[in-house]
Amino acid sequence: MENQQTNVEDNKDNSTPIPQTEKKKEEQLFFQCTSCIFRTKYDYFGRNPTQLKNYLLLEDSYVLEDPFSSPKEKNVIILGAHCIKCKKRVCKNMNCSCYFEGTYCICCAKNNVKMFPKALQEKINRIV
Ligand SMILES: [Zn+2]
Ligand SMILES: [Zn+2]
Repeated sequence: MENQQTNVEDNKDNSTPIPQTEKKKEEQLFFQCTSCIFRTKYDYFGRNPTQLKNYLLLEDSYVLEDPFSSPKEKNVIILGAHCIKCKKRVCKNMNCSCYFEGTYCICCAKNNVKMFPKALQEKINRIV
């Protein structure tokens, strides 16, 4: 007769490293115009702000939730966008950008001024 001995080895390994969960601080997103000193926080960048349903922007834009709008009727403020020519960030200030089938920084607007309609050309030419 053979005694079958089953040796159950307890492999309790307590040294397994516990994965460290990195607490990612919510990074505050900031929009900074490359043309003026305008700098502010923004909530969203893109064409389809989650704050607004069924609302599609014409281009990728920096969007801020309007703090004064009611929760029922959310409103957003378009802060700025990227110049379609040089990709610089520019705010929606008249002196920083103009919009014609896309946002142009004033530099690129001046370089391409002949592409724009007359009325816009005059506006651009008035900006120094
Ligand atoms: Zn600006
Ligand atoms: Zn530009």
